[in-house]
Amino acid sequence: MDAEFYIDGVLQKKRAIIAKSITLIESALPAHQQLAQNILDGLLPHAGNAIRIGISGVPGVGKSTFIESFGMMLIDKGHRVAVLAVDPSSSRSGGSIMGDKTRMERLALQPNAFIRPSPTSGTLGGVAKKTRESMIICEAAGHDVILIETVGVGQSETAVASMVDFFLVLMLAGAGDELQGIKKGILELADAIVINKADGNNIERAKEARSEYESALHLIESKSAVWSVPVLTCSALTMDGLEEVWKTILDHRKKLTDAAELDEKRRLQAIDWMWALVENGLKDRFFNNPLVKAQLPNIVAAVEKGKTSPTAAANELLSMHNQ
Ligand code: GDP
Repeated sequence: MDAEFYIDGVLQKKRAIIAKSITLIESALPAHQQLAQNILDGLLPHAGNAIRIGISGVPGVGKSTFIESFGMMLIDKGHRVAVLAVDPSSSRSGGSIMGDKTRMERLALQPNAFIRPSPTSGTLGGVAKKTRESMIICEAAGHDVILIETVGVGQSETAVASMVDFFLVLMLAGAGDELQGIKKGILELADAIVINKADGNNIERAKEARSEYESALHLIESKSAVWSVPVLTCSALTMDGLEEVWKTILDHRKKLTDAAELDEKRRLQAIDWMWALVENGLKDRFFNNPLVKAQLPNIVAAVEKGKTSPTAAANELLSMHNQ
C-alpha cells in the first residue's frame, strides 16, 4: 500500500485506516517510518482545525471518567472527538493510562469517537512525537476536538501542554495539605483548574478547594494578556459542571483568537517542536555512531577515574561523531 491509499482512507474517515496509519507512525521499522512521513506530509494541509485540549491530573483524580463523560457530551453536540495519550511510563507499568480496555467503554462505542492509548515504547520525546503526529492524522480525519490525556507526574505534562491550545488540570478537593506540595509548575501550565468529584457530600469541600486554588493562582504570573486561569468544579460521574468547562474552553478560544494569541501560540509550538526534533535527531545520530558506540564505555570510565577531564572527553566524543 502506498501513501495515497492511507491519505485517501484517512480523509474518508475510515477507522481501520486511521488506526493503521497511527500504527505506522508508531512503528520503529525504517520502511514504515518513511511511509508514515509521506502520509503525514499528505495530510498536513488537512490538519490544524481542531480544538486541542490537554487533560492532566494524578492517577485516581478521574481523568478517564472525565474524558468519557466530556467526550459523550461533545458527541451529543455533534462533535467528532479523538482521545490520545502521552504516558511514557506505560511501557514499564504495562499501561497505566488507557491500557485497560474497559476504560471509556461508552465513548469507545461511538462512531464519532476515536480512542488511541499512549504509544507504549520509547522516551518521553519519542512518545510525544508519535502522539503529536497521531493528532495530525485525527484532525485530517475530521475530528474537531482532540483530547490528550497525560499523567500528572513528571515532564509529560510539559510535553502535552506544548502541543495543545488548552491545558486543563484536574484536581481533588481536600487539597489543604496537597496544595502545599503542589508543583508551582503545574499551575503555570494550566489554562483552567477543574476540581473533580464535586458531588454528594464532597460539594462543600470542592468549593473550599476552589477558593484555595484561586488564591494560589494569584501568585502566578499570567501567560496571556487576555486570559486569567479560572478554577471550576465538576463531577465527571454526574456530569455536573461539564457544560461550564466546555464554555470556558470556547471562551478561551474566542479571547485568544481575537487577540491573535492563538495563532502565535501555535506558531511558537511549531518552532519548539522543530527544535525538539532537531535535538532528538542529533542525539540519536550521536548515540548510533559506531565510533561513539565503541568508545563510549572507555571514555566514561576514564572520566569516572579522573584520567580524562570531562571537557577533553566531550571534545573527543564530539570529534568522533563528526568523522
Ligand atoms: P484516573 O486514574 O485519573 O483516570 O481516574 P478514573 O477515571 O479511573 O477514576 C478513579 C476513581 O474515581 C474511579 O473509581 C471513578 O469512578 C471515581 N470518579 C471519577 N470521577 C468521579 C466523580 O466525579 N465523582 C466521584 N464521586 N467519583 C469519581
